[in-house]
Amino acid sequence: MLENAKSTSEYSSEAGIECSGDDFDSGIESNEENKESSLTVFNPNDIYNPSFEIGMVFSTKKEFREAVHSHAIKTSRNLKITSNDQRRIYAKCGEQGCNWHCHALKIKNEASFQIREYNPNHQCARTYNVKNVNSGWLSKKYIDAFRVDPKKNVKGFRNEAIREIRCNVSPFQAYRAKRRVIKEIEGDYDEQYAILWDYAHELKMKNPGSTVIMGLSDGTEENKKFDRLYICFKALKEGFLSGCRLIIGVDGCHLKGPHGGILLTAVGIDPNNCLYPIAYAVVGSETKQSWEWFLMLLKEDLHILRNDIYTFILDKQKGFYLLLRTYSPVLTTDSVSDIFMGI
Ligand SMILES: [Zn+2]
Repeated sequence: MLENAKSTSEYSSEAGIECSGDDFDSGIESNEENKESSLTVFNPNDIYNPSFEIGMVFSTKKEFREAVHSHAIKTSRNLKITSNDQRRIYAKCGEQGCNWHCHALKIKNEASFQIREYNPNHQCARTYNVKNVNSGWLSKKYIDAFRVDPKKNVKGFRNEAIREIRCNVSPFQAYRAKRRVIKEIEGDYDEQYAILWDYAHELKMKNPGSTVIMGLSDGTEENKKFDRLYICFKALKEGFLSGCRLIIGVDGCHLKGPHGGILLTAVGIDPNNCLYPIAYAVVGSETKQSWEWFLMLLKEDLHILRNDIYTFILDKQKGFYLLLRTYSPVLTTDSVSDIFMGI
């Protein structure tokens, strides 16, 4: 496998790195037949821990460029792209006298690029100040860390990054990286909220009989905004009614993210004593009104009637209430009469 690749490598060396035209094309075609046998596809999951070898295939030139970028930081060297056109991309070490280089050529009739020549040996020493470290790379690498902890401060983030990549990260780079990440995350959320109508429509189309209700804030037609969303799938409510005990646990938790909100859930217990999801909703805040809205919809979905006997577990057993002759589920024992009266 490597022999074929090496022969191409030698060919390229003889023809010269800056080769072009007929020599270049014939090199690609000659290797085309051997492509299957010398194929090692780069795994995109390794983009921050890349390893190169002759014959390795990258799905796009951009992927190769990003892998070189990460490889520079991984090895604490300054790498740079020296040639970059439609058919080739060359990377080399930025230190004078160092022979590390990696050359990839486009595979004919494909968008992918394949490494044809690679010298993994550096003659230069590691450096702490790697030029390839920048806010763009940092923001992509650490976006998941910020999703878990959006309040991570710049100083803590910078120390974490330096400890992990063992390269210098300036305070300004850390600041800009965090700003880019936050913008990216909030942008993601905004885009997702923008397609909620489509999502709700799709849910109803694909799950006939399900209850999907979206509430909008008060205001003029143009100023209406997303306020709350309730979802109860038909399969779940039928399953609950046909096989679960008359026990319903309800609870709410805060949603992480730039827009906050509360997730309200209702779960049952199936015959195996396992939790059984029934319905959930996203509301702006945990108020009596939002709980009433959620529980009234749940009551309708489960056809809870006046003479039914349901046990409700509230707030992880801190509130426990047995409702005989159920008029409506309730949140706390104190609010029973209020809600009864309201309904
Ligand atoms: Zn080097």
